[in-house]
Amino acid sequence: MQTIENYDFSGKRALIRVDFNVPFNEQLEITDDTRMRAALPTIKKVIEKGGSPVIMSHLGRPKGGPEDKFSMRHIVKHLSDLLDGATVKIAPDCVGEETKKMSESIKPGEVLVLENLRFHDAETKGDENFAKQIAENGDCWINDAFGTAHRAHASTAIIAKFFPNDKMFGYVIGSELESLDKVLTSPKRPLTAIMGGAKVSSKITIIENMLDKVDNLIIGGGMTFTFFKARGGNVGDSLCENDYIETAKAIELKAKEKGVNIILGCDVLVADNFSNDANSKICPPMEIPDGWMGLDIGPKTIEKMKRAIEESGTILWNGPVGVFEFENFAKGSHAIADSIVAATKKGAFSLIGGGDSVACINKFGLANDVSYISTAGGALLEYLEGKDLPGIAAVRE
Ligand code: AMP
Repeated sequence: MQTIENYDFSGKRALIRVDFNVPFNEQLEITDDTRMRAALPTIKKVIEKGGSPVIMSHLGRPKGGPEDKFSMRHIVKHLSDLLDGATVKIAPDCVGEETKKMSESIKPGEVLVLENLRFHDAETKGDENFAKQIAENGDCWINDAFGTAHRAHASTAIIAKFFPNDKMFGYVIGSELESLDKVLTSPKRPLTAIMGGAKVSSKITIIENMLDKVDNLIIGGGMTFTFFKARGGNVGDSLCENDYIETAKAIELKAKEKGVNIILGCDVLVADNFSNDANSKICPPMEIPDGWMGLDIGPKTIEKMKRAIEESGTILWNGPVGVFEFENFAKGSHAIADSIVAATKKGAFSLIGGGDSVACINKFGLANDVSYISTAGGALLEYLEGKDLPGIAAVRE
């Protein structure tokens, strides 16, 4: 397999699929350039090795044709600034004669940005002819957009067939896969997964896949109450998915068969309504009175989970263990984050992924104290579910 390290880019146009889907304010100024910064090492490496990056991405949700507010020209100036003033040109489209001519006349060290891929419906349809036309703008293809790797779009997967010997991952996908493999393929034991968030239904496939891999499975957040009800408890007005009670029972059974230690709460912080100012008290998880709902883990649970986390060699955290958006119910999630940081300091590898746990770790200001944070959203979840991602498979095949 080709890599950025071993590939000879000199005099070549490197077509790089990045995720530059950045947010803008009303004046069309970029409000968060994290995704652009993430792609810089790949772009800079191509330039350093004598190649010309041809950047392609989607931006926003255009409705089947060009729309100025979603034009990639709004990112050109900032990209040039991030590349220390490098010449960055914008093509009129991502396909067509004029664009092709521009890509052919680009000089080493110069950058060409193709226009928004999603100005054509053919992109998301994974149209092969469209992929072929985009491919004409490059001599090799680098996939560096992990966020869209779960989509079989023209630029993220289908295009691979036009570069059978000239395709590779960029550093964004490379480091994402390396980190995920440290958890899923070769974890330092014990491996602990902390699954939180609102619902069992949205996490069930990940939990099932994780049962084959983890030593400890910590279950927190709204989904715990389906488990407590499955054990015969009274969960009061807590979030509970009655349709998933049998699923919860099956998970507990499977965990037992596989020797996975399931860690559920032993006390709950309950509230008399869903608000930060609600009255609250600590209560046993199987005896939540009607009119009360569990919104966070209790102090004994915190201690129990903390011990398991701090003894782990590898930790995966997906989903808060309480309603962390409410200050009064954020203590549990904060304690989990603190324990992950403590374990990381002792040498554990920690990966935080999934929208809300990332928001959580950012809120507590601990983002720099864990090993890896994945912001990939849907692609990450599908990877954790054990699915083959088209954008990854296309490069590996
Ligand atoms: P998810 O997107 O599935 O990871 O869910 C995250 C959301 O779950 C956050 O907005 C939390 O507020 C919410 N959540 C966590 N614990 C609870 C709980 N005990 N009851 C209701 N919602 C919760």
